Amino acid sequence: MEIAHNGSMPSYPGPADWFTGTVRIEALFDETDETRTSGRNVTFEPGARTAWHTHPLGQILIVTAGYGRVQRDGGPVEIIRPGDIVRIAPGERHWHGAGPETAMTHISLTEIKDGKGADWMEHVSDEDYLS
Ligand code: MN
Repeated sequence: MEIAHNGSMPSYPGPADWFTGTVRIEALFDETDETRTSGRNVTFEPGARTAWHTHPLGQILIVTAGYGRVQRDGGPVEIIRPGDIVRIAPGERHWHGAGPETAMTHISLTEIKDGKGADWMEHVSDEDYLS
């Protein structure tokens, strides 16, 4: 058994290649040799969001604060709020982020495959984000 504390691993900004706006990522835990789940606490400032992306083995998002948005390719933009649990299927193209005027924080649980948790694509346009 191991007990760690949130904040004991460094936080870092969401890389501009993969995010729009101001995003702060706190590492909660990483995958290990025997396990493949990676945990992150991610805060999106108003207007901030991920680029379009997929996860090879899927992802679960647990919203803990604020109001945000998520969209899967071909679906509507959906509002997410604290308590919502979003399951992204393996290979499902999507994005997630804050609302235009509200920050949003979620915990992400991502399965890592061959050292990779996501495949990144283009940024989400304002037109898509605000639709
Ligand atoms: Mn995702």
